[in-house]
Amino acid sequence: MTSWEKNIRKVVPYVPGEQPKEKNIIKLNTNENPYGPSKKVMEKAVELENLKLYPDPAASMLVEAIADYHGLSKEQVFVGVGSDDVLAMSFMTFFNSDKSILFPDITYSFYDVWAELFKIPYERVAVNDSFRIVASDYYKDNGGIIFPNPNAPTSIAEPLSFVEDIVSHNQDVIVIVDEAYVDFGGETALPLIDKYDNLLVVRTFSKSRSMAGLRIGYAMGNPKLIKYLNDVKYSYNSYTMNMPSIVLGVESIADDEYFKSTVAKVIETREWFKQEIEKIGFSCPTSAANFLFITHDTKGAKEIFEAARKENIYVRYFNKPRIDNYLRVTIGTREEMEKFLVFLKKYLNV
Ligand code: PMP
Repeated sequence: MTSWEKNIRKVVPYVPGEQPKEKNIIKLNTNENPYGPSKKVMEKAVELENLKLYPDPAASMLVEAIADYHGLSKEQVFVGVGSDDVLAMSFMTFFNSDKSILFPDITYSFYDVWAELFKIPYERVAVNDSFRIVASDYYKDNGGIIFPNPNAPTSIAEPLSFVEDIVSHNQDVIVIVDEAYVDFGGETALPLIDKYDNLLVVRTFSKSRSMAGLRIGYAMGNPKLIKYLNDVKYSYNSYTMNMPSIVLGVESIADDEYFKSTVAKVIETREWFKQEIEKIGFSCPTSAANFLFITHDTKGAKEIFEAARKENIYVRYFNKPRIDNYLRVTIGTREEMEKFLVFLKKYLNV
């Protein structure tokens, strides 16, 4: 190592799912929503103007639209460049103790990367044998807590009472609930933010709003938490949100009917696909997300992953302890899932 390398911040980065360049693939590997944004969003995209100006650093239009939608004040909402940005800012802002933050051992694999990056001590708390998070494991002394609900990649949702159990036992630290997938069947912790000023709820437009490409995420919580987040954001980069994302995010919120109908289609396809794969030897937890976490009785997950990829069907395989015989399969259109099913039946000879 050269002498200047010694003082460099060294990190092992998060590895996102592949974004293949080829056309004609069935892409079920990164939990996108196959339907695309509302027509209103697309029409507005054509009219975008004033790209020569800096965007509103406070993204006020979007903050207000989100606040109105959830019946909150704008002081309770923070927006960022996808929920990854909101979560990274939250780690930086709220996890600043010498004590370890806690999160599940099987969860979104960016959490330990941010903890390493920001030098936050952390402990991975094992989920049980059914992949459920155990609330009482979080009763101990800690520097903060984060977990997704529904959890990823397990797809399992816990009820509001479970979240309240964890928050009420941890009122002297910040508890973050990552609700990236909540619209597909989870129960939101939003009703708790008035009762607990230490609770932050994080959401994204990438999944249920089908706008992963625009990078919009947001957090909701007590105005004091939001102020602390904004102070860190403005100390880092004033213009995180670009103008098209602000304007098109507002349009997406305006078309609630479209949003609800596409979410319903994903859920319907998920339930149909689950039934079909259970007939051919797969099992998976009950999903409240836009993906299924599947394992097969006899065939190994890695083999299936590799065989599917050869047929241009991309799903997600994690070569990690406890979950290396599972695949995370994003719910695509009914047609895409039918094609995947045909592949699976052929591959398994059934
Ligand atoms: N949280 C969880 C649990 C996720 O699975 C993802 C998607 N990778 C994100 C947050 C981040 O999504 P985005 O940055 O697109 O909002």
